[in-house]
Amino acid sequence: MSEHPAIRLYAEHVNPAFVRLLGTLGYGRVFTKARGMIVRDADGREYLDFLAGFGAINLGHNHEKLVDALSRALRDEVPNVLHVGPQAYAGELGARLAALVPELPMALFANSGGEAIEAAMKLARGATGRPGYVYCDGGYHGTGLGNLSVMGHARFRAPFEPLLSGCVAVPFGDLDALERALRERPAAFIVEPIQAEAGVRIPPDGYLLEAARLCRERGTLLVLDEVQTGLGRTGKMFAFQHEPGFLPDVLVLGKSLGGSIVPISVALTTRELHEKVLGTMQSFDLCGSTFSGNAFACRAALATLDILEEERLSENAAMVGARMRRQLDRALGDHPFVRSVRGRGLLLGVELGPTQGGFLGKLKKKAVEKVSEAVFGQWLAVRLLEEGILAQPASQAWNVLRLEPPLVVDEEQADRCVDTVARILREYDDLTSLVSDVGKRLGRQALTGWGFG
Ligand code: PMP
Repeated sequence: MSEHPAIRLYAEHVNPAFVRLLGTLGYGRVFTKARGMIVRDADGREYLDFLAGFGAINLGHNHEKLVDALSRALRDEVPNVLHVGPQAYAGELGARLAALVPELPMALFANSGGEAIEAAMKLARGATGRPGYVYCDGGYHGTGLGNLSVMGHARFRAPFEPLLSGCVAVPFGDLDALERALRERPAAFIVEPIQAEAGVRIPPDGYLLEAARLCRERGTLLVLDEVQTGLGRTGKMFAFQHEPGFLPDVLVLGKSLGGSIVPISVALTTRELHEKVLGTMQSFDLCGSTFSGNAFACRAALATLDILEEERLSENAAMVGARMRRQLDRALGDHPFVRSVRGRGLLLGVELGPTQGGFLGKLKKKAVEKVSEAVFGQWLAVRLLEEGILAQPASQAWNVLRLEPPLVVDEEQADRCVDTVARILREYDDLTSLVSDVGKRLGRQALTGWGFG
C-alpha cells in the first residue's frame, strides 16, 4: 500500500472497502489540488476531469469568482444559522430560482439531493393524503430510507428492507406501465429526465409530457429529479426544457447548486402545494432542518447561478457536448465493442459490450455480457486515468463509460478526451488483446495484495 497518510487514515477511519476496491481496480493515486478542469495528484501528475464529481462540479473546481464570493461571505459576518428571523439570502435565492421557473415559486431548501427528494415525497403525501409512489427501474434518488423506497437499484435497497409500502417500479420510458401503475392513485411519480447513474438512459421523445398528463388525470403529483441534469448540464438550464410545454409539480435540484463547495439542494414547488402542506403555524417547519437555507450555502448558490449565466455555461455545454458526441460517433461508431454513444449536452455515455455484427457478439453471449458488465467500464476508466483523464462508468452500469466534465470544458480539452478514449479502444480491437490486458492488470494487482499503490 502506498505511503501517503490519506490512504491509511481513510482505510482505518472512513471506508476500508472503498480503499480495497480502488486497489483491486488499480487506481492508486491521491488527488490533492484542483482548479477548473485540472486536477493534480500528490505526485504532481495532472488530469483533465471528465467526471465532475458525478455532475456536482458544473462550474469547474474552485472557480475563482465563487471562491471570492465565499471569502466575502465569510468576512461579512452575517449570522449563518439563527432561526429567529427570516434568512435574507434564502429569500433572495428563492426569488432567483423562481425567476428561472416562475410556475414553481416556492423553495424548500435542504443539504443534499436525497434530502430534497424526501421533502418532495413528504410534500406529495401531505398534499394528496395518499401513501404510495411510482418510480422507475434504474432511477437513483438518494440513500435515505424514504429515498430507498423509490430506488431503482436492488443492491441499495435489499439490506434495508422493509421500506415504505405502496411503492411501485415501472420501466423507464414505458407510458403503458405508468398508466397502469397510476390506477392505484399514488401520491407522486418520481422520475429523472435522463437516468445518469443507470447508464445515461434517455426516454423516448414526449415521455415527460405524456407522463405529466397521465399523472394529472389521476391527481398524482410529478416530481422531477434534476439533481444531476439541472443547472446547465444538458445544454439548457434544466433538462426538462428540452420538452416544451412540460412542467413538473416539484422540481428537485442539488449537486452543482452550491458550486461543488457548499452542500445545498432545493425542492421547488407551487404556492398551492406549499400552502396545503406547510401553510399554517403548526406546519410551517415540517420539512426544515438546522442548516437548510443557511446564509453561506445560499450565497454559494447565488454566486453559482451568477457564474452559470455570466459565462453562458449551458450554451457551452450544448456546443462542446454536441461536438464530443459527433466525434465519439465518428471515431467509435463501428467499433466492435461500442454499442452506442448517447447523451445530451455534457452528460454523455459510451455503452460497451458485444455488438450484433462484432466478433464479441459471436462468442458465448451471456459470458461476454457478464464480463463487459463487470469490468469493461472500469478497465477503460483506469486506462484513461493512466493517460491523464478522470472518468468513470455510470455508477449502476459499469458497461457505460460516462463523460460528464465541468461545463467550463473547452474544445481542445474535449478533443483530447475523445482522442484518448478512441485511441485506447482502437488498441484493443480484438478480444484476445483486451482480455489479456484485463487479466494482466488484475494479476498485477493481486500480486501486490490488491494494494492501493
Ligand atoms: N438524484 C439524482 C438524479 C442523483 O444523481 C443523485 C446522486 N447521484 C441523487 C438524487 C442523490 O443526491 P445526494 O447524493 O446529494 O443525496
